[in-house]
Amino acid sequence: AFTALLGTAAVSGLTALLLILVGTINVLLPPDTKFGIVFDAGSSHTSLFVYQWPANKENDTGMVSQALACQAEGSGISSYASNPARVGESLQGCLEEALALIPKAKHHETPMFLGATAGMRLLSRKNRSQAEDVFAAVRQALGQSPVDFRGAELLTGQDEGAFGWITINYVLGLLVKYSFSGEWIRPLEETLVGALDMGGASTQITFVPGGPILDKTTQATFRLYGADHTVYTHSYLCFGRDQALSRLLAELVQASPGLLVRHPCYHSGYRGTLALAPLYESPCVPAAPLDLSQNLTVEGTGNPGACVEALRKLFNFSSCDGREDCAFAGVYQPPVQGQFYAFSSFYYTFHFLNLTSKPSLSEANATIWEFCLLPWKLVEGSAPPDQDPWLRDYCASGLYFLTLLVEGYGFSEETWGGIEFRQQAGGTDISWTLGYMLNLTNLIPAEVPAPRRAQSF
Ligand code: AMP
Repeated sequence: AFTALLGTAAVSGLTALLLILVGTINVLLPPDTKFGIVFDAGSSHTSLFVYQWPANKENDTGMVSQALACQAEGSGISSYASNPARVGESLQGCLEEALALIPKAKHHETPMFLGATAGMRLLSRKNRSQAEDVFAAVRQALGQSPVDFRGAELLTGQDEGAFGWITINYVLGLLVKYSFSGEWIRPLEETLVGALDMGGASTQITFVPGGPILDKTTQATFRLYGADHTVYTHSYLCFGRDQALSRLLAELVQASPGLLVRHPCYHSGYRGTLALAPLYESPCVPAAPLDLSQNLTVEGTGNPGACVEALRKLFNFSSCDGREDCAFAGVYQPPVQGQFYAFSSFYYTFHFLNLTSKPSLSEANATIWEFCLLPWKLVEGSAPPDQDPWLRDYCASGLYFLTLLVEGYGFSEETWGGIEFRQQAGGTDISWTLGYMLNLTNLIPAEVPAPRRAQSF
């Protein structure tokens, strides 16, 4: 708008000068902006986020916003286990984009972090020294950048869940509010939203329950803006989208004679081959008495009923023995409560299936079943080419997510409407990264901020 104003010939010389001055103050001298960089080293890929915030309001809620999201080349850092020397290269492109965005004079004061999640949790389980080598190579590469590199570490599943919860409640401005009478007011616990995060290797559920948390290992407590928050959080390793689908395939392999699998979650008419060895490399997939040098042929049968049956076996529901306060795999969970934001892969799949505009649970279920029944030719022919890597799995992931949310976490037709499937809120991607940075840079004070004074210009 400022450029457009200057372009109007009607402004007098003096007005133009004033406009330049005002414009200069607004455009070139904004209140001092600070930046922070976080790498999200996920199981399937690494993303980088640059956040920015005005220095004079840094402790207010919702002031940190996303300035850049960048997808790093190649797969997740755990895939460099046998070649750690190359992991640094994979991060360079995004790092350069971040450095180009942040003014040079601020590079040295810009904190940068890398947090790794379930892909690296699995690698360190399988081969601890390989995981350490990958971290060492990452630290070596990022330590050379001109910013203030504060470290690369493995997040626990609890951290991942809790930081996702902090992110979404922070960006929605729900942690603290500034009242008209000039005081900071703490929110009611009931207005805070829960977080449902679906990664490639693990999935997290975090929310404030309506009653007590009986299993203290699932409880996280933190003090933000003078309020104590107690959340229920659990991270299910091997229940992330990619690992769950690998476990499903391995289960189908086991039940099939020979090397031809008839896959009920793949569309009819689909036929593909894949190498067996990578499937059994993951610690989530039980070893099989097979010659792993062979290839597997997978044929779709497009049968959603049989697909759900097969998916149910992944959950070990029987380990809950009918206990009300047990989700699956023997894990304690109080009843779901309040509104939830479901992000990451939950969003990708539900967005592809046009299910983000709040259909009822039965409508969502019917849509996914109808999609699963479509012949592969039709699915392949009508999807945009950028969907190629994920297309054959949307039926499986859609039914997997429904089974997890309804039969696992216990969402019902009534509580389903409380779930928002979203990638972003307020222009910021919803992920654990922002909450993690806010915590490590002390941007959320434990106590309520001092009352605001009128600010001089
Ligand atoms: P992570 O790498 O752990 O963050 O996992 C992200 C998950 O989302 C993985 O299961 C990916 O395969 C999946 N994913 C990432 N991008 C897309 C996309 N555009 N469409 C569908 N699934 C995706």
